[in-house]
Amino acid sequence: METLYFSPMLLGLNLMLASAIACTGLWYFSRPYPGPGFWMAGAWTLILGILLFMGFMASGSPLLNVLGNATQLAGEAILLLGVFRFLGLPPPYWTVPASAGAMALVNSWYWYSPINTELMVAIYAVIGGVLPLQACHALLVERREPALRSARLFVGITLLGYALVTLLRAAVGVHDWLQQVEHADVTRSVSYLLPYNFGIPLWVIALVGLALMTMRRILLDSQRHAQEAHASAHRFERLMGVANAGMLVVEDGRILDANPMLEQLFARRRDQLLGQPLAKLLDDDEAPLLHQLLQRADGRPHDLQARRGDGDGFPAEVAVAALDDSQQRLVEIRDVSHRKALELQLLHLATTDPLTGALNRRAFEERAEQELQRARRQNSPLCLALLDLDHFKAINDRHGHQVGDEVLRRFSQLCQQQARRTDLFARHGGEEFIFLLPDTNAESARHLLERLRIALQGLEIDAPGGPVRVSVSIGLASVGAHDDLHHLQGVADAALYRAKQLGRNRVELAL
Ligand code: GH3
Ligand code: MG
Ligand code: MG
Repeated sequence: METLYFSPMLLGLNLMLASAIACTGLWYFSRPYPGPGFWMAGAWTLILGILLFMGFMASGSPLLNVLGNATQLAGEAILLLGVFRFLGLPPPYWTVPASAGAMALVNSWYWYSPINTELMVAIYAVIGGVLPLQACHALLVERREPALRSARLFVGITLLGYALVTLLRAAVGVHDWLQQVEHADVTRSVSYLLPYNFGIPLWVIALVGLALMTMRRILLDSQRHAQEAHASAHRFERLMGVANAGMLVVEDGRILDANPMLEQLFARRRDQLLGQPLAKLLDDDEAPLLHQLLQRADGRPHDLQARRGDGDGFPAEVAVAALDDSQQRLVEIRDVSHRKALELQLLHLATTDPLTGALNRRAFEERAEQELQRARRQNSPLCLALLDLDHFKAINDRHGHQVGDEVLRRFSQLCQQQARRTDLFARHGGEEFIFLLPDTNAESARHLLERLRIALQGLEIDAPGGPVRVSVSIGLASVGAHDDLHHLQGVADAALYRAKQLGRNRVELAL
């Protein structure tokens, strides 16, 4: 205890303890940056080594002497590995067992066959002085991260200073050994006091340098991230600005942000849009589907009916995507009036006959099948009629094809006027038309068709060669329990044939 009382070792221990605590703080606050973990582990190992050595000083135990010296060098080596980790270089792990092992060997030999203590100190100092040189070299030659160059220089030079002081200590030790000087009181030994006056301060400055270097890297990284975030926000804003669709950010169903296109699309100012429920931009009927889309956020487009600020509606395509992991959603809204109009036009072209505007045969058959199934399901009556203009060829021959076309158009118009909303009327081909009359029994159908036949009789179509009159023959069939469309058409066709046979301009019901 006496020796400890006046030992500079206590001061050294306190300084190293402070460094270890500082390294622990550095490790904790800079996670997950690589390096500080090794600095912390190395500093605490050093403390352990010093404590073991102090144990030897108090007890004189050779084992504590060997363990103390070997552990201190191991701690120094571990700490220096952190420099390599920090620089992203493969750490030379072998230095830990090599330095600790070599020291343990020499120190054990000393107890077996005592040598000059100054030589012992010199050997310790050589190992301890050579260890930092590798890390110094790595710090001074590193070219990546130029912004960290000055911090690397600072640490590198300080470590170099430490290495030189330690090697100087070794040289003094060797000198003393050669002079046969042995110090019974270590506080009288220059080689012992050199590290306390210069080595440990340099070591502490190097640790401060390591902390500064780490903080500088964190600062530079956060500056870079801030710049990237700023650039990304700018890009996002620009994207929103030039997007051809209305774009908005939604949270909890309310609008957080909107682009200029959205203002234009909905004829509302940005300040009128922000904070409003997204549902207000759509028809009330769309609320359940919108809710689903916001939940699913799969980015797929769906057609919904939108509502402008002035009350006008328009068909919109709405796609919802999740914005990172948050509850925020990115919604894209496009006005698809043009596409919808085209779709309707295409549907019209695909399902109607261009000359008469009646359904074409394919569209008729599709819808008639559905009606037949429904009639069967509900056991309701249904009739089908085939209508064929009489002596139409003669009209063409006498008045020309164009007049023939006009007759077809006028006949079709008349039929569509006479038909009910639920009836299907189509051009079956040439001058032949077809009617499907749902929920109609044979009697009512006959009544309706007779009315049509008589109306046609009264129709006079103006033509250059004088007014044209035309009559129609009609074959009517009523659906049976198992009739399919094809069969029904055959039955109606037979009735039509009979109508022609019986003198035309008449309605014949299938037998
Ligand atoms: P019937 O009373 O026996 O039915 O005699 P029809 O002359 O009406 O019957 P036919 O089948 O002999 O002649 C039908 C004519 O309809 C022949 C064809 O040139 C004409 N036709 C078919 N499609 C069109 C069309 O789109 N425009 C015009 N102008 N004529 C058409
Ligand atoms: Mg015909
Ligand atoms: Mg005909």
